[in-house]
Amino acid sequence: MRWSETYIPTLKETPAEAEIASHRLMLRAGLIRKLAAGTYSYLPLGMRSLAKVTAIIREEMEAASVREVLLPALQPAELWKRSGRWETMGPEMIRFKNRHGRDTVLGPTHEEVITDLLVGEVRSYRDLPKNLYQIQTKFRDEPRPRFGVIRSCEFLMKDAYSFDRDAEALEKRYRRMFEAYETIFKRCGLNTIPVEADTGVMGGDDSHEFMVPAGSGEDTIVQCAGCGYAASKDRAAKKLGVEIQEGVACPKCKKGMKLLPAIEVGHIFKLGTKYSAALGAAFLDEAGQSKPIIMGCYGIGVTRLLPAIIETHHDEAGILWPVSVAPYPAVIVPLKISDPAQAGLPEQVERELTEAGVECLLDDREVSAGVKMKDADLIGFPIRILLSDKTLQKNSAEVKFRGEAEATLVPLTELLQQVKKRA
Ligand SMILES: [Zn+2]
Repeated sequence: MRWSETYIPTLKETPAEAEIASHRLMLRAGLIRKLAAGTYSYLPLGMRSLAKVTAIIREEMEAASVREVLLPALQPAELWKRSGRWETMGPEMIRFKNRHGRDTVLGPTHEEVITDLLVGEVRSYRDLPKNLYQIQTKFRDEPRPRFGVIRSCEFLMKDAYSFDRDAEALEKRYRRMFEAYETIFKRCGLNTIPVEADTGVMGGDDSHEFMVPAGSGEDTIVQCAGCGYAASKDRAAKKLGVEIQEGVACPKCKKGMKLLPAIEVGHIFKLGTKYSAALGAAFLDEAGQSKPIIMGCYGIGVTRLLPAIIETHHDEAGILWPVSVAPYPAVIVPLKISDPAQAGLPEQVERELTEAGVECLLDDREVSAGVKMKDADLIGFPIRILLSDKTLQKNSAEVKFRGEAEATLVPLTELLQQVKKRA
């Protein structure tokens, strides 16, 4: 891919609205642009990283036998009235009347819709379990949208739902999803701490949040260095019955616990029968008795993964993408090439890398060497391949891995092999 054939409007200056590193860098590197408070457009580079993240999620959901669906964002209020959340969701839920005067909701989440989907179709214990997920836009009228796409009014979420016959089957499913989440975050280059969490308006009786420790995080977790126990601050406060501060005693081993700021990227819940009982999703067991289906739900803030990755992978010059989620693992930066016989070399390298399965961007802009190098660091391509008169005198390219101090000269004959190893 050529730079001139895509749209990467990088910024030299730091936009005044950006309070934290990921927000600054996503704007400066041309990943996103703001439309209005809490709503953002994704530009081609942002879309590429988003596509990588969603591909990882889809692979791990399929591996865990969860099947993809797509549910409507437009939802009738009637379902929310039946679950009791028409009242409890509060002003964050976007509500309006359609032209027929019917109360309508722009879905902030989908427990009601997916539960209703199974009513009357899943009838017997033989029809269970069922495990479904979607990757879809959610809407929340945030009182204070901030930090770019970390807290926005419209965002992509992966939400999965499990339907089981009993608590034992739910427990097994919950563990399987927990493992899938650990794999997903690891593949995205994120170190998450799973913590015991409050169930809040979702209801249910057991819940874990997956938190990325980061100085800019809006949430606070407590973690015990002794036994590893970790919980959200709210959950710990309920469990300990005190106000939580640094050094508070661990409920398990009594050692002092640390407070850490963190970004929540995932949240899983054992819902039990809250929604199935309210909406009539029942099945007949072996004895012919009607029982409400036991549910679990499993969310990942998909659009929040990119800022969480950037918060934990950047330096003064820009982003340091993990290869797995980089918009392109490699950038080719041609500087002045005087020898007419070598003029087509950058395009040839681009073609060869692409054919070998290495996604790369060729910076074919007519701008200074300084601008090209700065933009390469700002966007954070993991591998930078520089071609110039100087490198070509030695029949080589200069290869530099982002985040490593030294560049190395690699003979052109070995370039493909060397780059492929790290891409
Ligand atoms: Zn402990």
